[in-house]
Amino acid sequence: MEGSILVISAPSGAGKSTLIQRLLAADPRLRFSISYTTRPPRPGEVHGKDYHFISHEDFLRLRDSGGLVEWVEQFGYFYGTGVEWVRRTIAGGADALLDLEPRGARAIKALFPAALLIFILPPSLEELERRLRLRGGLSLRELAQRLEQGREELRQACHYDYLVVNEDLATAETELKAIITAARLRSSISWPHLAPRFQV
Ligand code: ADP
Ligand code: 5GP
Repeated sequence: MEGSILVISAPSGAGKSTLIQRLLAADPRLRFSISYTTRPPRPGEVHGKDYHFISHEDFLRLRDSGGLVEWVEQFGYFYGTGVEWVRRTIAGGADALLDLEPRGARAIKALFPAALLIFILPPSLEELERRLRLRGGLSLRELAQRLEQGREELRQACHYDYLVVNEDLATAETELKAIITAARLRSSISWPHLAPRFQV
C-alpha cells in the first residue's frame, strides 16, 4: 500500500514546527521530510533532524544532478526536498510529511496530484507577530521580512485542500490528526489494501 504525501505550509511563526513535532511524536506512520537548506542552523536546530544544512555549492550540485523534487530561494537561502526520500517513503507505505512554503506546495501537487495540501493559519496577524517575537532568534530586519512574506503567503491559503487555525494548540493538533486519518481512508489509498481481502 502506497503512503500519502501531506504538505503543510504556514506563515513563519504560526506554530507549524510545534504542531509537526506533536504529530510526529504521536504517529509512527508519519515521516518528516528533512529538507536541504543553505540557511545556517538556529540555536537548538540539529543537522540531519531539522534540516540537512549544506553549503551553497553542495546545494547547487544536488539540484543540478536532479536530486531535488522541488526547491526555492527565499530570504537569500536555498531550500529543497530530496526526491529519493519522498519516493522511497511512500513506496514503503509510510506517509511523507513535507514542511514547505506555497511555491513548493504547488510544485509537489503538480507532480503528485494525490498529495494533500494543508495550510495552518494564525488566529490573527497581531498574534503571528507576537509569536515570532516570542520565539526569538531573528533580527528586526528578518522579523519584518518574515511578517511581510507571511502576509503574502496567507493570500495563498484558499488554494489549499484544508485550513487549520492554530489558536488553541490542542484543537489544531486534533484537527490535523483528523485530516491525516481522512487522508488514509481515501479509497485511492486504502482500496488496494482492502481489495484482496474480498477477492475482488
Ligand atoms: P513556525 O514553525 O510556524 O514558524 P513555531 O512552531 O516555532 O512556528 O511557533 C512560534 C512560537 O509560537 C513558538 O514560541 C511557539 O511555542 C508558539 N506557539 C505555537 N502554537 C501556539 C499556540 N497555539 N498558542 C500560543 N503560542 C503558540
Ligand atoms: P525556516 O527558515 O523558518 O526553517 O523556513 C522558512 C520557510 O521555508 C518555511 O515556510 C518552510 O515551510 C519553507 N521550507 C522549508 N524547507 C523547504 C523546502 O524544502 N522547500 C520549500 N519549497 N520550502 C521549504
